[in-house]
Amino acid sequence: MNILERYHAMEYGPAPEARNEADAWLAARDFSKALFIGGDWKAASGDKTFDTSEPSSGGLLAKVSDANAADIDAAVAAAAKALPKWSASSGYQRAKVLYAIGRAMQRHQRLFAVLETIDNGKPIRESRDIDVPLAIRHFIHHAGWAQALDRDFPGHKGVGVVGQIIPWNFPLLMLAWKIAPALAAGCTVILKPAEFTPLTSILFAEICERAGVPKGVVNIVQGGPEAGAAIVNHPGIQKIAFTGSSEVGKIIRKATAGSGKKLSLELGGKSAFIVFEDADLDSAVEGLVDGIWFNQGQVCCAGSRLLVQEGIAEALIAKVKARMSRLRVGSPLDKNTDIGPLVDATQLDRVKSLVAEGARQGAVCWQPDATLPSSGYYHLPTLATGVSPANILAQEEVFGPVLATMTFRNTEEAIELANNTRYGLAASVWSENVNLALHVAPQLKAGVVWINGTNMFDAACGFGGYRESGFGREGGREGMFEYLLAKLPLGPVIKPATTSAQPVEQADGAAIDRTAKLFIGGKQVRPDGNYSLAVATAKGKLAGEVGLGSRKDIRDAVSAARACKAWPEATAYNRSQVLYYLAENLSGRASEFAARLTELTGTSAKAARDEVEQSIERLFLYAGLADKFEGRVHQPPARAVTLALHEPVGVVGIVAPDTSPLLGLISLVAPALAMGNTVIAVPSERYPLLATDLYQVIEYSDVPAGAINIVTGRTAELAGVLAKHDDVDGLWVFADAETCAKAEAESVGNLKRVWSGNGRSLDWASDEAAGDAFLRRAVEVKNVWVPYGD
Ligand code: NAD
Repeated sequence: MNILERYHAMEYGPAPEARNEADAWLAARDFSKALFIGGDWKAASGDKTFDTSEPSSGGLLAKVSDANAADIDAAVAAAAKALPKWSASSGYQRAKVLYAIGRAMQRHQRLFAVLETIDNGKPIRESRDIDVPLAIRHFIHHAGWAQALDRDFPGHKGVGVVGQIIPWNFPLLMLAWKIAPALAAGCTVILKPAEFTPLTSILFAEICERAGVPKGVVNIVQGGPEAGAAIVNHPGIQKIAFTGSSEVGKIIRKATAGSGKKLSLELGGKSAFIVFEDADLDSAVEGLVDGIWFNQGQVCCAGSRLLVQEGIAEALIAKVKARMSRLRVGSPLDKNTDIGPLVDATQLDRVKSLVAEGARQGAVCWQPDATLPSSGYYHLPTLATGVSPANILAQEEVFGPVLATMTFRNTEEAIELANNTRYGLAASVWSENVNLALHVAPQLKAGVVWINGTNMFDAACGFGGYRESGFGREGGREGMFEYLLAKLPLGPVIKPATTSAQPVEQADGAAIDRTAKLFIGGKQVRPDGNYSLAVATAKGKLAGEVGLGSRKDIRDAVSAARACKAWPEATAYNRSQVLYYLAENLSGRASEFAARLTELTGTSAKAARDEVEQSIERLFLYAGLADKFEGRVHQPPARAVTLALHEPVGVVGIVAPDTSPLLGLISLVAPALAMGNTVIAVPSERYPLLATDLYQVIEYSDVPAGAINIVTGRTAELAGVLAKHDDVDGLWVFADAETCAKAEAESVGNLKRVWSGNGRSLDWASDEAAGDAFLRRAVEVKNVWVPYGD
């Protein structure tokens, strides 16, 4: 055997990371008093504990206190007590605390990494080189935001006491993503880690003690779903931040409906990994290793669907199999290990059953020839080919080391396949042609797109999903907004609509039909049910009739809004011109609209003229801002730029209030349009004629068909239909409290973004009822990572 042969035949020797420090830490603690509340260590009030065990052996690590509702009460009380002082402290004071946390974590970096690996099962290479450094970076990055609050977020204040619930796949990193921005914003927190992985959060609480975090600012409670639900339902909490499964995310969306709690949800994914035929295949294969086998595939944004262009499929699959055969499965504490155990036996069973079902549905599942350790929850890396788009492995989040492969012929098909999922967390695009990659990225329904890379994260770059992957962003400027409240000028409480008018059937043969119709797909159309509602003047006389819109009309309006491509694809300059034109045409009919306002609402002629003038001014404002509310470029500490693009949310339902019926409607519709959304507006139930009078203004203003659709009728009913409609992406509701609460609860189907006034109107005439706070709700931020260099 010559030297080269010897070199290739060499076996890896064991390279275990020392665990004695972590074992000593474990031995020295009383985990039955593991609740960190108000700066003290407490036992759960029922003295209950749960077991946390080591995934590589199944052995017990600790019996940890299991919080119940009484413990959550205590934690919320501690957080509420600490809030006034913490939120009033200077940005500099809070920055020093955040920085001190980051520095203290750096001093215990190795202990954090080993504990994380022991508790979660992830390879030490990952916890040591990725999870822990990123968590530290998060605290240090957010120290800066604490000080920049007044400068960068004028008119905002911290939301208050925050409840945070996290999963087990990145226990310390998710904790950092949650706690750092909350503290920077001046909030106090109650954080609940997942029950499989409590250990690093306990070490983190000790760090808080040492770093001088004031008592009660950070409270960490251990427990399971019961403790989680107690946090979600607690009336003393103003915001819930949740990371976990879409299933539990939907439960939380429902539970918080109508509570006025701010909510962010970071949920599951089924991310596409798209390889075009001009990609560097060897790089793509390495990308896949990071994309799907990182953390055993237990990653929300795992590239679990490989979409490969037909011409290179065979070559790529051969390379993938060769690489899979060299992945080292074994002890997570070994520095050479690529794949460790899954977190728990239940997770292993779930992955196995999904693979079996995928095979039953026709997928061919291949695994490398390797032996698994005799104990622990290991699963071999698995490649599924011949996967049909409907196969369970293509649709469900497996959360394990399983890659489902499909092929595509051309770019359009790649995009269609990539978007054929209810999720929308992340995607990777591999091509040596930057034009192609940047052509595809904006068309993917995903919150993060990596070009020629995967699983890149940074504290300065937002992360979060579209669709059922949740809403809200974590990281950077976008993430800070999740912990801040914009000061909006509150208006009156909205009472449930009380129009006593009964529907009247429209006479088929009537000589002149004076009923204002609905406006759908650029046309005035009769309501499907052929009923109309009488509209009264302020003096109680008949002012006219409007169509009584129904479920079917909303469905037609949603189809028209979805079919309208001309508006979202128009340039911002083009949209700006159309909005200016709308303003100009409304101005031409100002006196008519003022007279209508007076007739319907009884407001004075002067007040009516003012409202029309303000409506024109607001259209002008959003026409001007259409090409100015732009994204940003981040420069993370990597050879990459991250383009934070502002994209329209999509099809947005808008339920407008009775107060300032013209200005209120325009104040909501204009920012949504300015950002490229298509809109279904439900105007005020009492004064709908102001909206129907707009039809001609819209028709003369070059608004593409379907960009604005107007459905008149019963507010509560139509809001409910919009909330339940799975092809509506966003819903803004300014109606009575019950209608708002129902809209939030009924939005769970597709987790649409709901902005509700919680039963309050706004003072629409105020300057604060316009601008960035509205535009921000009209966009999704997509972070596109573009690496550079050879
Ligand atoms: P999970 O939803 O079962 O649990 C997450 C957390 O919620 C845990 O702390 C759990 O105790 C708690 N919980 C469970 N039921 C609850 C209830 N009814 N009310 C309140 N809290 C409750 O998720 P998991 O299995 O721990 O984690 C895996 C999931 O997390 C995957 O779907 C993954 O995609 C997702 N995830 C998403 C992101 C992201 O940023 N989008 C990041 C990591 C993980």
